[in-house]
Amino acid sequence: METTGKRPTWAEINRDALAANFQIVKQRVGRDVNVLAVLKANAYGHGAVECARRLAADGAGWFGVALPEEGVELRDAGITQPILCLAGFWPGQAEVCLDHGLVPVVYRLDLIAALDQAARARGIVADVHVKVDTGMGRLGVRFDEVAEFAAALKQFSNLRVDGVMTHFAAADVPSCGPLTSDQIDRFQQAVAAFRAQGFHPTHQHLANSAAIFAQPEAWGNMVRPGGVLYGLTGDILAPADRRQEFQPVMSLHSRIALLKWVPAGETVGYGCTFEASSPTLVATIPIGYDDGYRRALSNRGHAIVRGVPATVIGRVSMDLTLIDVTNVPGASLGDEVILLGQAGGHAITAEAIAATVGTLSYEVTCGISARVPRVYV
Ligand SMILES: *Cc1c(COP(=O)(O)O)cnc(C)c1O
Repeated sequence: METTGKRPTWAEINRDALAANFQIVKQRVGRDVNVLAVLKANAYGHGAVECARRLAADGAGWFGVALPEEGVELRDAGITQPILCLAGFWPGQAEVCLDHGLVPVVYRLDLIAALDQAARARGIVADVHVKVDTGMGRLGVRFDEVAEFAAALKQFSNLRVDGVMTHFAAADVPSCGPLTSDQIDRFQQAVAAFRAQGFHPTHQHLANSAAIFAQPEAWGNMVRPGGVLYGLTGDILAPADRRQEFQPVMSLHSRIALLKWVPAGETVGYGCTFEASSPTLVATIPIGYDDGYRRALSNRGHAIVRGVPATVIGRVSMDLTLIDVTNVPGASLGDEVILLGQAGGHAITAEAIAATVGTLSYEVTCGISARVPRVYV
């Protein structure tokens, strides 16, 4: 990347990898199942607008966001596909949803009443998807209260139930199989309860990335992949499903800003946490925890320089990180440093970083902050 005129730290987003991952999902579920591409949280840190543009060009039928605000961002960028607001909407946002053609997920009668009223004021009938809580214990109408809820919904004449959905708590965890089966059964009963009340939901959907691979019986007629689209699989899919051919979409890059030899016995960085045991060539890299390069990677993170692995030494600070490039032949000022990605037969995955710092790969890519420019290739 051309890095003159700005700090040489950037996240590269590989659009072809995104498109290829999307095609794997499409082929897995076949023609009869819609694919709703989940773009919440700025597409897990990858850039929602650019990802939406590419996926739209590659045939994505629906997009999912968490917040209406995220849907508005996509509409403002010219995205015309149906957009589902997976986490619903907040008091005062019914109008925003209607005016931007966003389909909200609903589960609270007070908010549903507000939406119905706003739709009536506009002379329209608004589509909603009802979320059923089949065992996650989070958003949604409890499965044992669905019949009552469906009956109550009939009073809202300016709303149409376009979809019924649920979300799995542990589709990736084989030992939670009984809960997952219960969730599928409860969902089917919930759909039957809506039908019994005279609703005809077009879309029935349950499956996140893990369930798309582990639970084909749970595809319904729409699936909702997020993580696999971004090539995040190692801590997302059930162990038996991890050999899928997904490619990581994000890589993280910087350049050596300063090089110095530190003699044996001296320490580097805050807190004297690293002491050179022999003369050490220390490279300063302009990335730190404000960029989402986690402080928990202090003395534990890895980088690749000139195709050679190098380790993080000392504490990661807010804007800067030190790596040991003693063993990198020819290491020079300005050399590219890969902090997430692959080169020279070595790979640093979001899953590996997540394992090092004790989290999930999603939190790694979501955590790369807005200060790091996304470069689309
Ligand atoms: C985030 C989310 C998804 C996508 O989950 P992945 O594990 O990333 O595939 C699907 N459905 C809902 C309701 C979500 O909130």
